[in-house]
Amino acid sequence: MVAAASAWRRVILAAVVLVVGVAALPAGAAARASARSAQASSTNAQCPWVDSSQPIAARVSELIGQMTVAQEVFLVEGHGTTNEGPNPSPNPYVFWMPGIPALCIPALGEEDGPAGVADQLTGVTQLPAGVGLAATFDPSLVTQYGQVIGQEELGKGAAVNLGPTVNIDRDPRWGRSFETFTEDPFLNAAISDGEIDGVQSTGEMSQVKHFDAYNQETNRNTPQDDVIVDARTLHEIYMPAFEAAVKQADVASVMCAYSSVNGNFSCQSPFLLTDVLDQEWDFPGFVTSDYGALHDTLGGALAGLDQEQPFNTFFGTPLEDDVNNGTIPRAVLNTMVQRILTGMFRFSLFDHPLTPTPTATVTTPGHQAIGTDVADAAATLLKNSSHTLPISADHGGTVAVIGPSASASPTYGGGGSAYVVPSQTVSPLQGLQSAAAGGTHVVYQQGLPTDAALPQIPSSALTPAYTGTASGGTYTGTLTAPETGTYVLALTNPCGCYTPTYLSLNGQQLLANPGTPPVSVYSVAVNLQAGQSYSIQITGESSSLAWGTPSFLAPGIAQAVDAARLASSAVVVVSDDTESEATDRPSLDLPSAQNELISAVAAANPHTTVVIDAGAPIAMPWLGQVSAVLDAWYPGQSNGTALARVLFGQVDPSGHLPVTFPRSLSQVPASTLAQFPGTNGQVQYSEGVDVGYRWYDTKGIQPLFPFGYGLSYTHFAFSDLRVEPSTVDGVHDVRVSARITNVGRQSGADTAQLYLGDPASAGEPQRQLVGFQRVTLAPGQSARVQFTITPRDTWWWDDSAGGWSQTAGVYRVYVGDSSALANLPLRDAFDMVATPAARQVVIHAPSTMQPGQPSTVSVTLTASGDETLRNVGLSLQLPEGWSVRNQGRALFRFVSPTQAPAATFVVTPPSSVPATNAVVHATADLSPDAQREAGVTVGVG
Ligand code: BGC
Repeated sequence: MVAAASAWRRVILAAVVLVVGVAALPAGAAARASARSAQASSTNAQCPWVDSSQPIAARVSELIGQMTVAQEVFLVEGHGTTNEGPNPSPNPYVFWMPGIPALCIPALGEEDGPAGVADQLTGVTQLPAGVGLAATFDPSLVTQYGQVIGQEELGKGAAVNLGPTVNIDRDPRWGRSFETFTEDPFLNAAISDGEIDGVQSTGEMSQVKHFDAYNQETNRNTPQDDVIVDARTLHEIYMPAFEAAVKQADVASVMCAYSSVNGNFSCQSPFLLTDVLDQEWDFPGFVTSDYGALHDTLGGALAGLDQEQPFNTFFGTPLEDDVNNGTIPRAVLNTMVQRILTGMFRFSLFDHPLTPTPTATVTTPGHQAIGTDVADAAATLLKNSSHTLPISADHGGTVAVIGPSASASPTYGGGGSAYVVPSQTVSPLQGLQSAAAGGTHVVYQQGLPTDAALPQIPSSALTPAYTGTASGGTYTGTLTAPETGTYVLALTNPCGCYTPTYLSLNGQQLLANPGTPPVSVYSVAVNLQAGQSYSIQITGESSSLAWGTPSFLAPGIAQAVDAARLASSAVVVVSDDTESEATDRPSLDLPSAQNELISAVAAANPHTTVVIDAGAPIAMPWLGQVSAVLDAWYPGQSNGTALARVLFGQVDPSGHLPVTFPRSLSQVPASTLAQFPGTNGQVQYSEGVDVGYRWYDTKGIQPLFPFGYGLSYTHFAFSDLRVEPSTVDGVHDVRVSARITNVGRQSGADTAQLYLGDPASAGEPQRQLVGFQRVTLAPGQSARVQFTITPRDTWWWDDSAGGWSQTAGVYRVYVGDSSALANLPLRDAFDMVATPAARQVVIHAPSTMQPGQPSTVSVTLTASGDETLRNVGLSLQLPEGWSVRNQGRALFRFVSPTQAPAATFVVTPPSSVPATNAVVHATADLSPDAQREAGVTVGVG
């Protein structure tokens, strides 16, 4: 089933037809659809839940009261996808629920994605990739970015944006590193919160994805991608962005992931969907499966999945049958429907239904300008010796712009479902040419052929002759090198269907081509010896096996070298166009012979700048040879405009790395096969919480560039660190401030970063980011940056207590502008003298409650720690429309470490509520800034 679904992904991307024909619907849904269309479309008078001033919960209950099992299943099953898949259907969006006119239920379109409206729709703005957004460290840009996405999705008539992608970038080889934000959970939570706020402020629902521990493509959506990870690591590293999405951003929806976590597929994991999402975090929204990520009807329904997409393999007829024969309680189905409808009412879809308009043009100059601003703020300067940058725009010299990525085949974004079709593009060369003022001359040399222009490997060098491989096919042959040197091998996977094709040489995998838009040809450089034979193997579909021999490549490189020699400075634009959903990168090397091109150009011109258009760390064997390196990430469609502003100094490069750049793969936290991509069906997350810079710090490894690093055209100095108070208990904030001064000669921006080092006995990494603030300063200007360390920043997840804990002792405070100690000049500490340690909330409620009937619920805060707490409040959070009354005390003025205060509440569900499962959630306020929480699920009705 899995293979079939993925093999059929997005095979045909034909014109979109807006009318949903019954015949086009997946099996079973057709019958449910004809049942519903037998009733005439209803008027609002027959649908009192429309345009009603009743609370949402009452409107939802009233509507569910009118629904049949078949109608309810119609809302939770997938209805096919955009002209693809085993049941191709002319749906307007990749995920789709057509609505039920007889009940005035509007349609619900769900569309990718994280960097703009995706899924091949046109007339949209291709924004910079998520990793670039994170590199800005700029909450205001993040919100604007979210607003662009929300406005454009709404303009297309899609109610739900499938984004942001907030999975931790655990390893630089992950194919979706570009699409997600960062390796750091604090930055991740801040960026995802801001983006969701932006999206949802427009009236668009956000579906944060992919929950959880989805950090590689290899073996995805198979039992082989079974992540073995402890609850502490999940809570501290892989969950905080989802938690912030739920609690701070009020995200409408969550997408569960392709990964398995400790033996359960995420979309069928009671731990992820019930224990954490519903009970711990009190998430009221709906959970949708990733594309074909559901594998079992009962497992998904009972774990808390609300919607299968895009097909109805498990939540179609099988779910209807299971509910009708009592295998799955009606309350479970009602709860799924209740969650979806609640979101639809909350976002006003009943009162203002959206009409599918997927062909509308929604990009605007204003949206494009925000994309350019983000690309500018993302640009991360990694090296700048001898003031190579900025280049004067009117200095009368010549800038030699070099590389296929500068003009012949630029890279704007990554591949897969996050790929956005640009409405127009500005290549790096176009941007630089149009920004160069009179007197500065821009010349261009491609330097290397594009991958698509390479010739086929001739049969004289390859036995047997290559003739292409079909889907599922293999080719095995022998390649004999006619000369010694660097070759480029290029493999085409034409299918566009998210099914990988691999190329190996002498048993070593060199290429993994996922067959995703927008790139179908992938290339790699390899050194071969004259006369030597190499076994070559292709597995999967391919239509071309091409190469560039050293002598074929030499003239282009020589022309680039000549141009560089004659120029006052050289700018080599390189890119990695192989990052995509559906495969991981076999190495950190740039595709084609781009490394060789850089070295040759750098040898010819001492003022050589390398501009990188890539979404993830790359190896830089030439770093010592070049004088400047600017990482522009995937800048989106205004690539050249943004680049020119930075290179010519109109904008200060102020991005900071949201991921560590390793020197080589031997340095990365998941460097063993058991960790990445896993062995024997398991992926061991044995590095635990030591992900990203936490690993490098713990092991004392010096990476190529540390997390948080980024230079500027000016210089900044940090001074006057204040930490107040210096002695604190476990439930109050610590305020940190520092002065940052622009000590250079031009305006610029820096990001002040605050790292916290816990007492060693907490077992936490050496330092963790707990605050950041971006400031723009004129020369000589200074500003005081302010941070708050909240109690939560000092918590760690205690597996044995099943909850958060906290350790007393000395906490070290570091302020500077990267995670490396050398860049953290300000240091101080505070002493935490007492803590509530592992106090937890325990909640007791009957497993079922009757509508309109009171039930008793008790909430206890367990005893622990050495801190006497003051004014502890115990409270309940209940679904809308429920009433609650406390019996006796719920506020406790003094709670000693050995006391376990308890409160009793009388809880009454509304009298007319359909049979559903509801979460009764409890909080203990230890102080205004420190809460502990828990929830239980109860059946109602
Ligand atoms: C991706 C999701 C995406 C979905 C719909 C899946 O393959 O993992 O991120 O939202 O497809 O395109």
